[in-house]
Amino acid sequence: MLLYLFLGIFLLFFIIFLVWLTFFKRKEEINLPIMALHKVDDKSELGITRLKVSQFERLIQTLKEWGYETISLEEIFKPSVERKIEGKKLVLTFDDGYEDFYINAFPILQKYNFTATVFLITGYVGKFNQWEAGFGRNFPHLNWKEIKEMSRYGISFGSHTVNHPDLTKLKKQQVEYEFLFSRKTIEDKIGKNVFYLSYPFGKYNDSVIEAARKTGYKRAYTFFPNRNQTSASFYAIPRRAVYFLDSPIDWKLKLEGGKLSWIEEMKGRIINAFSNGTILVKSSKLSRISKS
Ligand SMILES: [Zn+2]
Repeated sequence: MLLYLFLGIFLLFFIIFLVWLTFFKRKEEINLPIMALHKVDDKSELGITRLKVSQFERLIQTLKEWGYETISLEEIFKPSVERKIEGKKLVLTFDDGYEDFYINAFPILQKYNFTATVFLITGYVGKFNQWEAGFGRNFPHLNWKEIKEMSRYGISFGSHTVNHPDLTKLKKQQVEYEFLFSRKTIEDKIGKNVFYLSYPFGKYNDSVIEAARKTGYKRAYTFFPNRNQTSASFYAIPRRAVYFLDSPIDWKLKLEGGKLSWIEEMKGRIINAFSNGTILVKSSKLSRISKS
């Protein structure tokens, strides 16, 4: 039964994707590639966005061999840098702020002289990942001591809201609270300005963008910008997610685009659709709890 459901969803997306590819696809230019990662942990879970520590090191090593240098979002907002970014540069971002970033990823980044930007869920700093669907295991989040230490080293931190909600389902005031309170919290703790945020599940709409602007953000990041978006927006910047199953060929396509990059895009959209399943599982779990 479940298999048929999965096959059905896959087929549906494939057809929609082919229609879109044929009729609506704009030519894509990747100026500054932005990669999105999540967990870097050898502890297994059902999710597909987790990288094993050895996989992560291979990714970083390969990027180095290809001549890439990393730039953090904090650096992009330094006025001298904002005007021109030269050379083979890329941005590494990590959503959710798990503690495995400090334990596993940070030492590897230091070893290769790379930097990164981590988007924190401020309501879960120093706590376990109760906001996630129950099919994973418990993963701890970073605590403020670790965050401050890495901030001093040059890792930048952005907001991933307070509670990791689906923002498109919230009232305007709730969205503004999620944006403003998370930003103030991070700024208070690390003593630096926070101008950038990443939407939970990559989900946003026009009023979410308006709230981001109003609460002091200069850039907001998603995975795939909404279909009706006609021009590039500072408040819906696309990122390429890195998956457990990726090979170096996939990494190259994510970085440089090219003829076959539609394969990456299709993979990403399907995986993103399943991660939206997290919202469904979680909300049905919550409604069961509230009923009982
Ligand atoms: Zn997230």
